[in-house]
Amino acid sequence: MSFTRLSAPATQPFAPLPPFSPQRLPDLIVQRIKQRIASGELGPGDKLPTERTLAAQLQVSRTSLREALGRMASEGYLRMGGRDGIRVCDLSASAVASPLAGLLAADPDRGMDILEVRLALETVATVYAAERATPADHARIRLAFDALQRATTQSLGPELVHFDLDFHFAIAEATHNVALIHVMHGMHNLILESMQITHRNMNYDTEAERELQHQHEALFVAILRRDPTAARAASDVHLAYVKKIYG
Ligand SMILES: [Zn+2]
Repeated sequence: MSFTRLSAPATQPFAPLPPFSPQRLPDLIVQRIKQRIASGELGPGDKLPTERTLAAQLQVSRTSLREALGRMASEGYLRMGGRDGIRVCDLSASAVASPLAGLLAADPDRGMDILEVRLALETVATVYAAERATPADHARIRLAFDALQRATTQSLGPELVHFDLDFHFAIAEATHNVALIHVMHGMHNLILESMQITHRNMNYDTEAERELQHQHEALFVAILRRDPTAARAASDVHLAYVKKIYG
């Protein structure tokens, strides 16, 4: 019976634990980096330290580290390329973006489907951001908002799309929902595509740009005030407008 073991005399010899096998080290490294990605500490596109720094931090040999990184790269977690260093991949890219990009290319009418998904995700992101954003998130959202504001006043034209997207991504990151962040990045190219179409249709009408910026400001203020109800309302107005000028 298993109880009897509890009362076994303390003198009973302790079965030796198997020593750590050096071959397991890459597994442990992989596990640790994956934990960082799962916790959201490392987000899509984030840069890891250099191999040398990482090896020193983890106190492992470059050989073990390289094996771990190589495995993570082949599994699609990391991207390693020359001057760009080691970066975290967007983990939903192959699951979300590629097949949809194929659909979009095959049938441009599907653009509205993608836009609807983007709009749904953004509403959820905005509400959660209003509830969960930390002061650091607020600072990041403010930076993105200020940059978008400047880009709008300078009438940067097509460049505006990138500032707009960065603003919405800063909001997405403030949700602290790792799945949502990765899916939103996974749809990055699709979103960009739909936004470019949006802006093409808008023809960079100054009036529309001002209206959009007005809506972004409402989103920004609602999130900073931690008001999810106002955030949802502002998001609905913004997205309905985006949908209208897109269609
Ligand atoms: Zn926007």
